[in-house]
Amino acid sequence: MIFCVEDEANIRELVVYTLETTGFEARGFEEGTSFFEALAEELPELILLDIMLPGEDGMEILKKLKTSGRTKDIPVIMVTAKGAEYDKVMGLDAGADDYLTKPFSVEELLARLRVTRRRLQMMKSDALNQSAVFVNGDLRIDYAAGCVYLGEEELHLTPIEYKLLCLLAQNAGRVLTHTFIMEN
Ligand code: CA
Repeated sequence: MIFCVEDEANIRELVVYTLETTGFEARGFEEGTSFFEALAEELPELILLDIMLPGEDGMEILKKLKTSGRTKDIPVIMVTAKGAEYDKVMGLDAGADDYLTKPFSVEELLARLRVTRRRLQMMKSDALNQSAVFVNGDLRIDYAAGCVYLGEEELHLTPIEYKLLCLLAQNAGRVLTHTFIMEN
């Protein structure tokens, strides 16, 4: 699940639509209040956060996220207006993981997401002290890079396919029920 906080409806809708069509689950929020309400119920794996918002601005929201033990490890990509160098520096100082400058292309958005998620997966695999690579026959999953190979060939999976494959790999040799897969 990815949360996108953006007051400009056309950008918010485009982001949510793009994420959903590329296999992510996504929810959009116009401002901080509804975002924090949703956050109380569900923790997303990543947050896209606009800086200029009505009410609390993105920097204040970022500070809250990074000072709460519950949310401080969620990667945040700050979305800044073009040329706002100051905002970028401020965002990164306050613990944002990356930033995206408006207007951005769909390709740029997806590229930033991939990089941030890869970093996150690396952190997760370090934390769990898992082996960074899964190998079974010709299949090789490189968790750190978020890449899958069959023999020498890299497979291009959607995020959902990748997650599903990782889950199956973690449970290799076991039969998984539909319920287990949906829950995990
Ligand atoms: Ca805005």
